[in-house]
Amino acid sequence: MSGQKANITPYRIIDVVYLTHDTNLFRFELPENTSFDFLPGDHVKIYPDKNQLLDFRPYTPTSTPDTRDHFELTIKRYTDGLVSGFMHDRKYGDEIWMSGPHEGGHFEEGMASRVGMVAGGTGITPMISMIRTILKLGIDVDLSLLFANKTIDDIILKDEFDRYADQYDNFKRYYIVTKAPDGWEMGVGRIDPEQMKNRLPEASDDTVIFVCGPPMMQLDLKKKLIEIGHAKEKVIFP
Ligand SMILES: Cc1cc2nc3c(=O)[nH]c(=O)nc-3n(C[C@H](O)[C@H](O)[C@H](O)COP(=O)(O)OP(=O)(O)OC[C@H]3O[C@@H](n4cnc5c(N)ncnc54)[C@H](O)[C@@H]3O)c2cc1C
Repeated sequence: MSGQKANITPYRIIDVVYLTHDTNLFRFELPENTSFDFLPGDHVKIYPDKNQLLDFRPYTPTSTPDTRDHFELTIKRYTDGLVSGFMHDRKYGDEIWMSGPHEGGHFEEGMASRVGMVAGGTGITPMISMIRTILKLGIDVDLSLLFANKTIDDIILKDEFDRYADQYDNFKRYYIVTKAPDGWEMGVGRIDPEQMKNRLPEASDDTVIFVCGPPMMQLDLKKKLIEIGHAKEKVIFP
């Protein structure tokens, strides 16, 4: 992030879509001849006030880099959250000041043929762009997603992931919820090393694991992934 005023650009909201009880998708117009070059996992920064450059939060586009006329952000509202609250109060036509895209731990074609993804809550956003990109472009990569949430109502884009799991042999998903409804057949509780062993690709030179969620969860899971054999540099935070 440069923090330079010159790099802050207003983008117009052209759609707001309800995803879950606390999460909306915001679609922004990309003006003609504007380049918005990012790789899945990179992020932008939102500034509610263009004169207060210290008050920003990062958000990871969930659209794919090949989308030319718009990009999307998926944002969960936090109670009294400065920037998420600001965004959830915005509507069609409003302009939002952003910088970036800024580089995060991202997916690049050729980096591995097996990609594991472990996400907690809105930590799913970088994975959405990666999954969509890999499946849409037919990139020859096996994808395994482990996605933890409080309840099934918190699972962002569950229908889309379920559809991909039916449609693509190279995509698997497994949900873990803290509070499960009757008849739930996937995981309950917290992500543990056993589930990571069973649900993610085996450690190898050709495997990477992306981990995204609350900071303490990320650090804890990285430690556990290393304990079950993944090399430190193969565990990537977007
Ligand atoms: C690289 C990266 C990418 C990200 N991508 C996304 C994304 O795509 N989508 C997404 O939804 N999020 C994403 N996040 C998280 C996002 O950047 C924000 O952290 C999130 O939206 C909360 O920001 P906020 O300003 O709304 O809340 P904040 O104002 O930061 O507050 C967060 C919570 O803490 C509480 N709080 C704040 N101050 C205090 C205090 N002094 N005492 C007690 N409680 C307090 C608030 O009430 C609120 O519930 C990403 C984070 C990173 C690091």
